[in-house]
Amino acid sequence: MSGTVEQPVIETREPLSKHTSVKVGGPADRFTVAKNSIELERAVRLALAEGAPYLILGSGSNIVMGDGGFRGLIIKSISRGVRVVEEDDAGTEVELESGTFLPTAAKRLATQGLAGLEWGVGIPGTAGGAVVGNAGAYGGVTVDTLTEVDGLTSEGDLRVVSNEALGFVYRSSTIKRGELDLPVVLRVRHRLRREDPDAITGRIQGFLAERKRKQPTEPSVGSTFKNPPGTHAGILIESLGLKGTRIGGAMVSPKHANYIINTGNATAADVRSLVDLVRATVLERSGVALETEIEFKGEW
Ligand SMILES: Cc1cc2nc3c(=O)[nH]c(=O)nc-3n(C[C@H](O)[C@H](O)[C@H](O)COP(=O)(O)OP(=O)(O)OC[C@H]3O[C@@H](n4cnc5c(N)ncnc54)[C@H](O)[C@@H]3O)c2cc1C
Repeated sequence: MSGTVEQPVIETREPLSKHTSVKVGGPADRFTVAKNSIELERAVRLALAEGAPYLILGSGSNIVMGDGGFRGLIIKSISRGVRVVEEDDAGTEVELESGTFLPTAAKRLATQGLAGLEWGVGIPGTAGGAVVGNAGAYGGVTVDTLTEVDGLTSEGDLRVVSNEALGFVYRSSTIKRGELDLPVVLRVRHRLRREDPDAITGRIQGFLAERKRKQPTEPSVGSTFKNPPGTHAGILIESLGLKGTRIGGAMVSPKHANYIINTGNATAADVRSLVDLVRATVLERSGVALETEIEFKGEW
């Protein structure tokens, strides 16, 4: 890279509570926003050159950052964009920049008559974050349509990774499990199918109505625990009377027991302690070992 290339704008001591959906998390030593994949790459290369730890954030809707913040550089991807790459008998391949907001992409693709990602309309995350956690809803899931992703290895080398290499299982991937050396997702490609735009939009409206009915409106990280085999984590937690349980400002949502909400002044420690309490209570009283869907990162 030449010496004239613009350097990323770096903030210091940026509160991560501003960048996570549950609105907790202490300061990142350094923080930058990447508006496109060139800026994303550049920020990663800066951290690599300095030997500094870094972490990519999308919308912060599946992650709880500790009250101690993050020692290193947080790179928030708002690299947005959706484009058709290829169209043939097998379908239409579209490419989404890593920071593309899923609900926006789902609606836009629907109006273009492209089906397959409409389940993402109620998921407040990015295309990159969805790959890491194999996000899904309403019978649709990332693994179903994803073809490949472009990313960077820990050495900063560009790598194209196939669906198979991402080892998708329920709400996880080889990236999330640390089995694949791909800490940075730059772009993702999905193979979609042509369908009547009104039919796709109709499904979207149904999904949004269901969200409104079932989902808490307070800040949260969405579903806290993965569903254990044969049941729903929320039903199990509710059956033990845990709705409304509180630690500090964190509470098991009275509307949906698998959501831990921030009632206004929660700390990350409150959220984590409540997660631990729910897990321990469920194990003790029902024998089921719940696994978290959300990730805890940073300093605790
Ligand atoms: C109200 C609510 C409802 C939700 N409903 C659902 C649902 O129905 N289904 C579902 O699956 N999930 C749901 N979620 C969880 C969450 O929205 C998804 O997991 C989403 O895919 C996370 O995307 P994100 O951009 O917010 O990722 P983040 O939370 O920012 O990051 C998650 C992980 O991915 C990594 N990451 C993010 N972007 C990149 C990148 N570009 N390169 C490398 N690593 C990256 C992060 O480092 C972190 O490890 C919900 C959350 C909320 C708050």
